[in-house]
Parts: sequence; structure tokens; C-alpha cells
Amino acid sequence: MLTDPELLHALPVAVLVTQQGVIRMVNAASVALLEADSPEQLLGRPPSDFVHTLDKLRSSNRIHQASEPEQAGQANKPSEFRIRTCQGHLRMVLISTVAIALDGAPALLMCGMDVTHQNEIQEQLRESEQTFRRLFESMQDVYYRTNAQGVVQHVGPGVRRVLGYEPHEIEGRTAESYYPQSSDRDAFKAAIMEKGEVSDFPGQMVRKDGTVIDISISSHALFDHNGNFAGVEGIYRDVTQRKNLERELQRLATTDMLTGMANRRAFLELAESTFQRACAQGEPLTLLMLDLDHFKAINDRFGHLEGDRVLVEFARTIKTHLRASDTVGRLGGEEFGLLLPLTTPSEGGDVAARILDAIRTLELTDSTGQSYRITTSMGLSAHHPSDRNLRELLDRADQALYLAKRRGRDQIAMLGTDDAYDAPLPGTPH
Ligand code: GH3
Ligand code: MG
Ligand code: MG
Repeated sequence: MLTDPELLHALPVAVLVTQQGVIRMVNAASVALLEADSPEQLLGRPPSDFVHTLDKLRSSNRIHQASEPEQAGQANKPSEFRIRTCQGHLRMVLISTVAIALDGAPALLMCGMDVTHQNEIQEQLRESEQTFRRLFESMQDVYYRTNAQGVVQHVGPGVRRVLGYEPHEIEGRTAESYYPQSSDRDAFKAAIMEKGEVSDFPGQMVRKDGTVIDISISSHALFDHNGNFAGVEGIYRDVTQRKNLERELQRLATTDMLTGMANRRAFLELAESTFQRACAQGEPLTLLMLDLDHFKAINDRFGHLEGDRVLVEFARTIKTHLRASDTVGRLGGEEFGLLLPLTTPSEGGDVAARILDAIRTLELTDSTGQSYRITTSMGLSAHHPSDRNLRELLDRADQALYLAKRRGRDQIAMLGTDDAYDAPLPGTPH
């Protein structure tokens, strides 16, 4: 059969031929594989000499099977065997055997491929897969993947902790199902479609127990081999604690701690957007600036703590006269700002008069039971179409307040220019 021994020697796979149970021929690749010094070191020896003890039985069974007459000319399926080389090294070799005739007598041709290295790679793959699994199982974030229709295809075990669901309860349902409103996911989808990926994208989800949590999503779009959108893959994490902290910080940064009103900065910010809207819509807008009269005397007479209490009472009284759309803030010590959208100066004047009256009639009692009263002065300014910025409105209210103080306090004042602008009111009256 093998008429060209040179061809056999040139083969890059290990080939050896046995006859009557011993090796009769080996090629160079076999010598190399078995780490022999020369072919002679192998010839005449039974191949089982090189098979690992644990694989000997399986090896002899296969040799036996391959020698059956009905198997003639048909190689058996390659199988892995542990081989010990002449140097004592273990190798994993993929061996296939076929019955042949050599010099007219039956023989076996064995063909072997060293797969030791592949096994190492597979072992490494297995290890990295295990590491990945461990990481995946213990990860705080929730891994997820949806298809093009937004149906969840796969979700990580982190979902148990974050949403209180088992992964199988989530898989097969649309991602929208876990948002407070299904339209809440639209902004996320739009961002993914526009940029292909999002990072730390804010949102909310509903847990199995019904509680709403804040989440942050980092994801990217998936595309099929034709370049068509195929879904989204990424992670989301529960950021409720962080958001609560942010909300609390925001509250602290924008609230006046004594009165619970907006502080100066927050008031000015809110006033700015209200002012811009009034400008854009051509709507009336009235600003009131309030300052307690002779407040220093209250502190001097009853002490600073009592002064604080007065400020709280004062703020509470003002609030009872406001609509939800009105903005009130503490601008400084005993000075407050009131912004009344959709309110003409004369209507603003009515509100101011009611507040003035409420403050005047407020019955206050100090720690010794002594009752006393307070008054306030107010400056009113109205939004002019010619106002270029909020500051102009604020300045006029400030000047008007100064005027009210000069005229004797406990009253409202406005500059002549504001008096002239009393636009018709398109909105709800007070
Ligand atoms: P006017 O009628 O001209 O407004 O006189 P006034 O005494 O109210 O005004 P002035 O500006 O002279 O004094 C304001 C006082 O308000 C001085 C300050 O000690 C006091 N004040 C500012 N902030 C607080 C506060 O948070 N608590 C208390 N108790 N007093 C404050
Ligand atoms: Mg004052
Ligand atoms: Mg003052």
C-alpha cells in the first residue's frame, strides 16, 4: 500500500505502522511526537508502551476493533489518548487507526495529532468562562439584552436583587414593562438610536413589590450582519440611594432652612424662567418685594430666637395667599420675593394688600406671654414689554420697596412706570 516511504516521512502528522503488535514503521513526525532520539528507539516496541496506564484498555480495545476484518480499509473515529513520550512527558494525542496490509500481511496504520496545546487553550477557555460566570453571577449591575422589538432576550441574575424578579420572569417580556410608564423608555430608545450607545442614562423602574427605583443605564445598540438594528445590550444599576442623596443635596442647596422657602439663588433661578416665559408669551407678570418693618427692633426686644419664629410665621402667612404657580423665596434676612405669573399690577396689588393685612393682624406672643404685632412694606413691579432682563424688574421692585419704607412703612408702593402697565389678564385670577 505505502509505496513511497519518503511520502510517509514527509507527512506533518505522526504516522506509525504496527504489525503483530509491534511498531514496524514510524515517520519523522512520530519520532518527534514521541521524543525519540531515532526511529530505532521505537521500532519493535508495542505501541501500548507509550499509552498512559489509564488509557491502555481503551487503546487496546480500539486496536482490536480496527483489526476486525469488516473494518478493513476504514479508519476508526479519532479519539484522544494520553501518550507518554520517551522523555516521560505527557501529551494529548488524537489518534485514528486503520487496518492495512504491509508486505502482504495485516498491519495497522496509526495516525496521531498532538492536541496537547489545543487542550491547554480549551482549559484556559474553560477557566475564563468560569471566571466570567462568577463575575456575572456576583455583579451588582444587571446585564440585559433585548431584540429589535424591545423584548428581553437575556437578563443577568443581578435582576433578583435590583427588581426582585427571577431572570426567567423578565425574559420574553418587553423592557417597557418595568418602567413606571411605558413611554418613559422612549427617551432612552431615542438616545440609543441617535448615538448608538448611552452611558449613565437616567431612568426609573418598578420593582416586583411595586416600589419605584432610580436606575442608570449604560448600553449600546446591536446590529445584525446586514447592519440592521437588532436590539440593545448593556447594564443597568440601582442608583436610588445616589439619587436620594442628590435630591437631598439639591433640596439643601435650594431651600432656606428657617422658612422652608426657596433660597435667594433658587428664587432667582425660578424667577428667571418665569420671566423668560412671560416675555415669550407676552403674558403679564407681577413681582413683589417684601421687607419686615423694624425687624431689628424685634430681635432687640425679644431676642434672636423669637425673631426667627417671627420669620417662620411671616413666611407661613405669605404662603397661604399664593397659588401653586406663584414663586416665593427668601432673598435675605427679613426680605422676601414673590413672583406672580399671569397677574396684572392691579391684581398683584390686591394680593399684596391681602398679605399686608394678614401680617398686620397676625397675633404674635413672646415667651413671657406678651403679645405684639408686626408690619411689612412691599414694592411692586410689573413686567414691561421693554424689560430686557429680570434684573430690571427686580430693581424697580427694590426701588418701590424703598419708596414704601420712606412713605412710612406698612404699605405697598410701585413706581409710576409700573402703574402705567396694567395689561389684560389671559390667565386665572387670584
Ligand atoms: P426696616 O423697617 O428699615 O426694614 O428696618 P429693619 O430693622 O427691619 O431693617 P434692618 O436692615 O436694619 O435690620 C434687619 C435685621 O434683620 C437685622 C438682622 O439682625 C435681622 N436678621 C436678618 N436675618 C435674620 C434671621 O435669620 N433671624 C433673625 N432673628 N434676625 C435676622
Ligand atoms: Mg426690615
Ligand atoms: Mg431688610
